[in-house]
Amino acid sequence: MARYTGPKCRYCRAERAKLFLKGSRCLSAKCPMNNPAECGLPGKDPKARAKKPTDYALMLRAKQRLKRIYCMLEKQFKLTFDEANRMSGKTGDNLIGLLERRLDNVVFRMHFACSRPQASQLVSHGHVFVNGKRVDIPSYRLKVGDTVEIAPQSKKLVVVKESLIEVSKSGVCPWLSVDADNMKGQFLAVPRTEEVKELEGVNEQLVVELYSR
Ligand code: SF4
Repeated sequence: MARYTGPKCRYCRAERAKLFLKGSRCLSAKCPMNNPAECGLPGKDPKARAKKPTDYALMLRAKQRLKRIYCMLEKQFKLTFDEANRMSGKTGDNLIGLLERRLDNVVFRMHFACSRPQASQLVSHGHVFVNGKRVDIPSYRLKVGDTVEIAPQSKKLVVVKESLIEVSKSGVCPWLSVDADNMKGQFLAVPRTEEVKELEGVNEQLVVELYSR
């Protein structure tokens, strides 16, 4: 699967927010977003006066932000949106639900990896089991009740052990359960849009408006 391999910090600078794309570096003093005043838009003079964004610019930013948080490329993101649009119910809620059900996202939220790119790599390298079977597709979509576990031979991986420290520090999302000692968790429910918005500061309605133009 194609993925973005360029510099990730420029995404945070573009969104003027921490998107946590580089694991432990994001929590360290090395994160350039620790001093947002010094961080201008990529390719622009940080001291340049910001213009008032147009409605289109706001919609585009909302879409880019959501897409980058889940580490997706445009084509894959648009296909997910189209699928959400075909489902019954509100398209924005469907979209958030589909994104949250991605295996790489759940591996990250269970703290088996300290960023979504790292979670995606863990999955594609075969370190993750779903319901007792190896699944190596990061976009694999989980169902409510599915169990996610680090493969037995991968439980000694230092990156997983280090990431799991976060379970005791910051806890786990209410729609997941995690047994850190056994490196195992369960997807208990599809989160509500409000829960994800609170965590990530996304605006799914602007994304719907952008693609509906
Ligand atoms: Fe870079 Fe992570 Fe900081 Fe974003 S949060 S700027 S990815 S170090």
